Amino acid sequence: MPSLRLANLIDGRLQAPHLDRWLEVFEPATGEVFAHCPDSTAEDVADAVAAAQRASSAWAATPTEQRARLLHRLADLIEARLDAFAALESRDSGKLLSLARSLDIPRAVSNLRYFAAAVVPWSSESHAMELGAINYTLRQPLGVVGCISPWNLPLYLFTWKIAPALAAGNTVVAKPSEITPCTAALLGELSIEAGFPPGVLNIVQGRGPIVGQAIVEHAGVKAVSFTGSTKTGAQIATAAAPHFKKLSLELGGKNPAIVFADADLSDANLDTIVRSGFANQGEICLCGSRLLVQRTIYDNFRARYLERVRALRVGDPLDASSDLGALVSQPHFDKVMGCIAQARDEGGHILCGGQSITLPGRHAGGWYVAPTVIEGLGPNTATNQQEIFGPVVSLIPFEDEAEALAIANGTGYGLAASLWTTDLARAHRFGAQLDFGIVWINCWLLRDLRTPFGGTKQSGLGREGGVEALRFFTEPKNICIRY
Ligand code: NDP
Repeated sequence: MPSLRLANLIDGRLQAPHLDRWLEVFEPATGEVFAHCPDSTAEDVADAVAAAQRASSAWAATPTEQRARLLHRLADLIEARLDAFAALESRDSGKLLSLARSLDIPRAVSNLRYFAAAVVPWSSESHAMELGAINYTLRQPLGVVGCISPWNLPLYLFTWKIAPALAAGNTVVAKPSEITPCTAALLGELSIEAGFPPGVLNIVQGRGPIVGQAIVEHAGVKAVSFTGSTKTGAQIATAAAPHFKKLSLELGGKNPAIVFADADLSDANLDTIVRSGFANQGEICLCGSRLLVQRTIYDNFRARYLERVRALRVGDPLDASSDLGALVSQPHFDKVMGCIAQARDEGGHILCGGQSITLPGRHAGGWYVAPTVIEGLGPNTATNQQEIFGPVVSLIPFEDEAEALAIANGTGYGLAASLWTTDLARAHRFGAQLDFGIVWINCWLLRDLRTPFGGTKQSGLGREGGVEALRFFTEPKNICIRY
């Protein structure tokens, strides 16, 4: 099969990068190159920003309903090609085809539809003053905004940013991860078919430190919405600070799942707890990699949990019987294997997994890691403090609520926590004290797109989702009229 050659979308046209240089895109399931993506430069970014600036006033003046119609049309076009998108996402990222089909692509469609629908009735505040004046808040688009997304949920997170940005009347220069560039490129092609005016949505493919950084540093880009690692987030914050750009940073996590002795550990709930550690090979920023279990149920829980984890099947992402696919890249595979080695060095006891897996045939070169459960490591070890972002869960026993809270809150991250208890008072009390942006009680990954999404501490700055995203992508202006 000939290699797929992706293009940039700039000014409504699919274009090769200025320097005609290309990056190899690997299929994680086989370790083989299957596509080439533009290795763009600051020059390509400058073209995209210029196109976005030219399109900016007309797009901002386009009636909201018309902007919403175009987003709905794009959603329809993606939905009509659900199978093609899911196959491409799976091939590009190593994730299960079934997951791409049931979660990633439908959610990308929902993101576009949600913000198309949410922006229409969206209104701003007014404040009347008794002395005879009225204030009203105008929420105006920012102009050109940058959207930079990671590789773990490629189209899902890409649309989570561009949908509110476009709905609110901004023009966009977006960069997907060079590791998983394919579905964003396909979306770019469909945006032309949907009828977006040239320059409204621009997609520049390439390396983070080149293309991403050029977007962040370009004086014409008024705000940057970024999802990725804490390290890159810090670099972006540093680069953006002198320009006083608005920033939304959704970063890493070291999320706890906390199981109290009174939890309802039905089979279904236990399955969810397993999923919360291993879904998408643990490559979801919301996965719980620290599993805190109350000591009185620890042994029994561990036995039931391990039985389930051992039954998980690592295999070809296209095979419906696989539970885990491949890790996204060789460097990420090496990182995860290094973290497992580090856990051993720290004195951790590997209860299951702990090794890579070589599949037969054409998958022999793929990057597969067995679901791994570790115990015996203190809360302050590197394993329990640093983000691994792979199929690795560390079991940590706790005595009581106070200890569970100290362990749960005791990392530099604060993205998401899940709590398992049937004690309603505890659920409210404990939930309020968890220093995380998102707390799930007796569930995990139950998402309502209207709710604020984001983390505390090193997990980020600002919130996405619902009106928070529309607020981020607009500038509030107060107008005061005396009468
Ligand atoms: P990275 O930070 O490496 O990359 C994220 C994006 O930023 C990619 O598009 C990358 O491009 C780009 N980038 C890299 N360097 C720069 C730079 N100097 N300036 C501007 N852009 C740059 O993260 P990963 O792709 O490895 O994603 C995994 C991380 O994302 C994990 O830490 C995970 O926790 C986090 N994440 C957070 C979520 C949240 O909502 N809080 C959700 C999902 C993931 P390229 O890939 O081409 O180098």
